[in-house]
Amino acid sequence: MTPRQTRAQRLAMPLARDVVRNLAVTHGGCVHPVQLRRTDLDTGQTEQVLVPCGHTLATVCPSCAERAKALRAAQCREGWHLDAEPIITPAAPDDEQRMWVEHRAQTQQQRDHADTAGQDTSELDELAAELDEQITRSGVRGNVLPARPARRHRSTRRRQDAPDLPRRPVAPRTIGKTYTAPDGTTFRPSMFLTLTCDSYGKVTADGTPADPAAYDYRRAARDPLHFAALFDRLIQNLRRLVGYDLQYFAAIEPQKRLAPHAHVAIRGTVSRAELRQVLAATYHQVWWPPAGQVKHDDANLPVWHEPSGRYLDPATGEFLPAWDDALDAIGPDDGPLHVARFGAKFDAQGVLAGSRDSARCIRYLTKYLTKGLADCHRATTAAQQDHADRLIAALRYEPCSPGCANWLRYGIQPRNPREGMRPGRCTGKAHRRDHLGYAGRRVLVSRKWSGKTLADHRNDRRQWLLETLGILDTDPARYTWEPVTPGDPDHMPPARRLLHVVADRQKWHAALTEARARASGQHSSDLPAGKAA
Ligand SMILES: [Zn+2]
Ligand SMILES: [Zn+2]
Repeated sequence: MTPRQTRAQRLAMPLARDVVRNLAVTHGGCVHPVQLRRTDLDTGQTEQVLVPCGHTLATVCPSCAERAKALRAAQCREGWHLDAEPIITPAAPDDEQRMWVEHRAQTQQQRDHADTAGQDTSELDELAAELDEQITRSGVRGNVLPARPARRHRSTRRRQDAPDLPRRPVAPRTIGKTYTAPDGTTFRPSMFLTLTCDSYGKVTADGTPADPAAYDYRRAARDPLHFAALFDRLIQNLRRLVGYDLQYFAAIEPQKRLAPHAHVAIRGTVSRAELRQVLAATYHQVWWPPAGQVKHDDANLPVWHEPSGRYLDPATGEFLPAWDDALDAIGPDDGPLHVARFGAKFDAQGVLAGSRDSARCIRYLTKYLTKGLADCHRATTAAQQDHADRLIAALRYEPCSPGCANWLRYGIQPRNPREGMRPGRCTGKAHRRDHLGYAGRRVLVSRKWSGKTLADHRNDRRQWLLETLGILDTDPARYTWEPVTPGDPDHMPPARRLLHVVADRQKWHAALTEARARASGQHSSDLPAGKAA
């Protein structure tokens, strides 16, 4: 007979759910696997397959995040010191990628039919957005629907206070210069670069403003919103200056003061003087309508006019100027809404292939990738908390995009207006506390970096595993795949899926250990990327 337990003793026992989750994580298994149904076209048999969720944040799925980070490190390593031009041959899409794109196509058609019939499309739009995310996570580059082109390109207008840069034609090569030492050995140095945003006011050692009242929170909010465009501009300028198709691998992270900065691995080198020159000449002008004067506060919001699908001024009953009209109203004497620039301070060091420095820099570049932006520097003092609060408050009413609900506050109808838009409640990622104004990608990699996508690097890893385990790759034409949804009779609830993950990983781990023991001379250092599949 089991002895009677006290309540405290029972509470001290591990919770079954947590044990399963911990086991899954220990074994490198995904904690939110996606359930797919695989049908063998020859036999008609169906099988349940659990595919990793592919999230990059450890708070969502530690195993997938760790795997993604390892793949990024492999990608960074492979591209940094290439000494031959990478050959770009996009891989053929795999079954999973094809399946998501097929579902996306069906969803688009349903959505467009519903739209033509005058029905509400919001649910289908949401589904399409979710599928787009799945498509990206499965390793497909770009979007199935191209973003609508902007109507005008005013941002090329040159500012008077920015020095001109020499513009050389950009040769198609991507490999930097080779140097020969007196003893005849050749080497090809690369670079590790850290770029920061401009100053918004003096900060103390803990990253908080010395004088919060004097700190420019408006610019501190606008710079991250446009940081990705600024970075693009920098690369363009660098390429023109060096005269070849310079390649980079960049990680975007916040500094302690919560402004974004970029760690950049660059193939080849640029002199400090050239860097200084490019940084001084690089700016991004935001040609948006004015957003300085509040025309409609929360007590006085524009009103949705259903028949026209537009917003009205509550006082005059007139239509608000539409986004495109507001853009047209920007005159030749008006300035841009914002000019984003990098700070003058930067850090640059030369790095040689295979050196300890190179390994250290790669660790540095990928260090925070499994964390959300806001989690990189958690506030531990009241001053840090206040600083974060003030930045989020400044971001709240800042327009994040042409479609941002905040435009209503400044008397302009956002692009693609919908009913129920409310300033201060825009759902754009940039406004969220965990994004700190930056909604772009955390890793920016140029196209000819390693010549491989993340999916290619993942596939390298898979091929290695299949070979090690002595498994033949399955014939893709033999199966069809479909996602299993909660209404389906074979749908597995999350708890059951997790048990399957643990069992699968154990089997797989045992097989791998055995295969390794069998193969003589095979060391774990042969693993191309990461410690788990
Ligand atoms: Zn996962
Ligand atoms: Zn917004």
